[in-house]
Amino acid sequence: GEALAVSARVAPLGSRLVLLLVEDLTEARRIEAVRRDFVANVSHELKTPVGALSLLSEAVMDASDDPEAVERFAGRMQIEATRLTNLVQELIDLSRVQNDDPLEDAEPVRVDELVAEAIDRCRHQAGTKQITMAAGGTADLHVWGNRGQLAAALGNLVENAVNYSPARTRVGIAGRRVAAPGGDLIEIAVTDQGIGISDKDKDRIFERFYRVDPARSRATGGTGLGLAIVKHVAASHGGEVTVWSSEGQGSTFTLRLPEAGSVRDRKPYTSGAA
Ligand code: ADP
Repeated sequence: GEALAVSARVAPLGSRLVLLLVEDLTEARRIEAVRRDFVANVSHELKTPVGALSLLSEAVMDASDDPEAVERFAGRMQIEATRLTNLVQELIDLSRVQNDDPLEDAEPVRVDELVAEAIDRCRHQAGTKQITMAAGGTADLHVWGNRGQLAAALGNLVENAVNYSPARTRVGIAGRRVAAPGGDLIEIAVTDQGIGISDKDKDRIFERFYRVDPARSRATGGTGLGLAIVKHVAASHGGEVTVWSSEGQGSTFTLRLPEAGSVRDRKPYTSGAA
């Protein structure tokens, strides 16, 4: 429609320029569509627990002379409130990783500390499911970046590994240094023996709010924002996150980040005060 009309008007200027203009318009529209979808998704995701809370509170009032029913409804209200809290927290995390310059407070961050923090975050859930967590190869590795954002990224990967795995399985976290043309990279791989991800879903799981099985994700308190946060953090640190998975066998999510030393060698640190 509009893009075509514009291209017809400027056609005499040369096809290169026209192509650029049309691409620009398409990109602007794509961004606008993504923003609209996002707001619609957020509204929907907020409405679900708020609606449930409202119904449950009515049920509590109606059941005021039945203490057992009150307790049952109150328990479900607790679950919905937790879901709401998780969602709001993840929205805050997402907006933070999208808006803050991660390299503003960048520093060398010890990988073993990131791993310990991520394991701590899931210790309770892993314990309940008797999932064993094991880490190796992380000693003496340092990545360059924003500690809080990196912790959120790795924490999300380990949390997912625990969430999408059956009881009595193992989650492994392995670190290693890999030589790369632009400077050494640090690889942190999180491997689980969980449900796995089909090829058709692999490309989409990093999108905001995408869930393979929304019911299952909600049951574990999932928001569909975790991997979008991980992807954003990886990219803004000059790294990447990739996934290998086999349905029914398990998955490995690999985070690749610039090594602290190699970044400092390329971009000398300048003190603001001096
Ligand atoms: P959620 O909050 O639903 O976990 P994420 O963005 O973290 O959202 O993940 C998106 C979807 O990718 C999940 O809903 C789940 O279907 C799938 N997924 C993520 N990690 C794993 C994993 N380790 N094993 C199997 N499926 C996973």
